Amino acid sequence: MKVVRAVAELRAARPSLSSPVGFVPTMGYLHEGHLSLVRAAAVENDSGAVSIFVNPTQFGPSEDLAAYPRDLSRDLGLLEMEGVDLVFVPSAEDMYSPGASVTVDPGTVGERLEGASRPGHFRGVATVVTKLFNLVQPDRAYFGQKDAQQVAVIRALVRQLFLAVEIRDCPTVREPDGLALSSRNVYLSPRERLAAPALYEGLSAARELWSRGETSAAKLREHVCRVVEPHPEIRLEYVSVAHPATLEEIESVDEDGALLSLAARAGRARLIDNVRLEGAAWSREDV
Ligand code: AMP
Repeated sequence: MKVVRAVAELRAARPSLSSPVGFVPTMGYLHEGHLSLVRAAAVENDSGAVSIFVNPTQFGPSEDLAAYPRDLSRDLGLLEMEGVDLVFVPSAEDMYSPGASVTVDPGTVGERLEGASRPGHFRGVATVVTKLFNLVQPDRAYFGQKDAQQVAVIRALVRQLFLAVEIRDCPTVREPDGLALSSRNVYLSPRERLAAPALYEGLSAARELWSRGETSAAKLREHVCRVVEPHPEIRLEYVSVAHPATLEEIESVDEDGALLSLAARAGRARLIDNVRLEGAAWSREDV
């Protein structure tokens, strides 16, 4: 496994990767969710590349950039065991040269939901992912459905800028009690950790209600709130029923299906999760 740190080193190492190349961008502190993407990339490609970069431009001024958990030597050990060929660990100075001014703005799809709570977040994501795609030149790139809006933003980016990379999204990996794995779960106190599975319980219960015929977005949102409310450790920030591709809020779920998603605070942690209400629009996105 080759570990490269500078842009020039990456450019020198890239030609030795055999095609097709599968790429997994991450911020490190790897868990089974990340590794599921690495494994999917390994199955579908001849070589695998992973980046580890805590991208400063996707953090707001009051967010957890400095505190974001990091453990590079453990991450490299895990990636080595997975048989990854190339790991790119750039510095912020490498990715953003002094005076860097060019950004990639995904527009409305990045302004709703997480984008409304975290202004500029998806501009940071789209900018760094564009840079990483240009450097790594992958044939396929792998993202987690846990960050559903990120997937929608990346798909829009690739489609609208004609980037030559195939986007794959992989199912959310969860703890046995349903909590979605996240590097940020380390922020949870024991009490918050016990309460946190209520988020997925709420989403699952609302999805169940939908599968039994409820199409009203308001009723589905209410159902999520009702399951989470008994847990004072968790404060819901939003619950959304949105179109799978545009993420525009919808009033009722039709044959296109929907994304049912939420964000919540639990102490220091900000948690997000979602489930798909499967429908025609999802299959169109999954091509
Ligand atoms: P991050 O390091 O948080 O930027 O995540 C890197 C990639 O891993 C993103 O595509 C995430 O959506 C994905 N990911 C994070 N958590 C999970 C999870 N629990 N299951 C599947 N993928 C995940």
